Amino acid sequence: MLGAGREVGRAGIFLTLENDEKGVLLDYGIAFDDQDRPVFPLHVSPSKLKAILITHSHLDHIGAAPLFYVSAKPLVIATKLTLVTGKLMIEDMIRLSGYYLPYEYPELVSMLENSKDVGIGETIEVENLQIEVLNAGHIPGSCMYRVHLKSKTVLYSGDVNTIDTRLVRGADVAGVEAEVLIMESTYGLFNHPPRSRVEEKFVETLRMVLEDGGSVLIPSFSLARAQEILALLAEKMPYANIYYDGMARDIMTIYLEYSEYINRVDLLKKAYTLFDAVKDSQMRKKICNEPGNIVVAPAGMLKGGPAAYYIKRLGFNPKNAIVLVSFQSPSTPGRKLLTDGVLEEGGGFVKAKVFWFDFSSHAGADDLVKVVKSIKNLEKLVLIHGSEDSVYTIGYRVKEELGIDFVAPANGDSIAI
Ligand SMILES: [Zn+2]
Ligand SMILES: [Zn+2]
Repeated sequence: MLGAGREVGRAGIFLTLENDEKGVLLDYGIAFDDQDRPVFPLHVSPSKLKAILITHSHLDHIGAAPLFYVSAKPLVIATKLTLVTGKLMIEDMIRLSGYYLPYEYPELVSMLENSKDVGIGETIEVENLQIEVLNAGHIPGSCMYRVHLKSKTVLYSGDVNTIDTRLVRGADVAGVEAEVLIMESTYGLFNHPPRSRVEEKFVETLRMVLEDGGSVLIPSFSLARAQEILALLAEKMPYANIYYDGMARDIMTIYLEYSEYINRVDLLKKAYTLFDAVKDSQMRKKICNEPGNIVVAPAGMLKGGPAAYYIKRLGFNPKNAIVLVSFQSPSTPGRKLLTDGVLEEGGGFVKAKVFWFDFSSHAGADDLVKVVKSIKNLEKLVLIHGSEDSVYTIGYRVKEELGIDFVAPANGDSIAI
């Protein structure tokens, strides 16, 4: 276990056969410390890697992978869309935190040059290991890996979601056979409210603000969340003046290009046709000066990006609203806004109305248990990518309800499966 042991972020699991020096690495991502510096998983020598299997392009799963290319050229495997969006995410991180990173742009290029893209549903062979790629339902292009070791089959979930959204269908877990399941447990303590109810309230809130003569800022992650919101708005509020800004524009174009990964392409195309990508600062100013606009802009936690610009102009008018649609980490302006009504210590009170809606792309607690239940021949559950509370809560539930043993390894632990 190299990372994501009893913590969320910096996923990294080295999987190997007992008497084989070499193995596969499942994800290699980063976390950020409270001073915003990247934190890496534990080290594994690149000479031991048969391949690096990346589940999706969130930085906590892909962000550390270029590190291996400083001195070596291991094979990296991911879906085409994960490679394309991952490149964009890593480039953005190099721009913002390059100073703290132990790799640079050439290492990213080398990683992409040594990559092999796989399709969802495909089975590939890497140095005598059979690896099957399954849909994880988390974000477009995200996948799970089913690795056939000598006597056992291991399923690694990456980040997983079981509900259908406009961007992706729920994970393909029903009836999958695996003796060992390595599963994320981000939301082991909570259930999410039903998505349809969240959407209803969200749309109702937006309509109310517009009718009142206000404008709405929706700070959103640029990858997936922004496009999910835009597709929802294309279905429910096609008549509204809706804009999207920052990297959300690039991801929108990429998703339309790789539309085979998108569940409701029709709605994404509708959003692209009806709504406007913000082109320049003049357009940005105009959006802020007129009432009745909705703008979807990163960053999701109001930490930089065009959202930080919009909130300064829209946040101090009581007619407007800030509608948060992403998880808000502690010590981000978004969390400060929710808890204290300000963006920073000593800053002025935001006068716009503030709302938060749960559009999570992770399975909630009950759904995680259902994922475990749906796996055939399961003997052991390995819980990762969750707080200590979260992994043990899910683990004991699974033991009690399904009679399946679990382990919750810490970083640095080796476990026999
Ligand atoms: Zn993720
Ligand atoms: Zn994750």
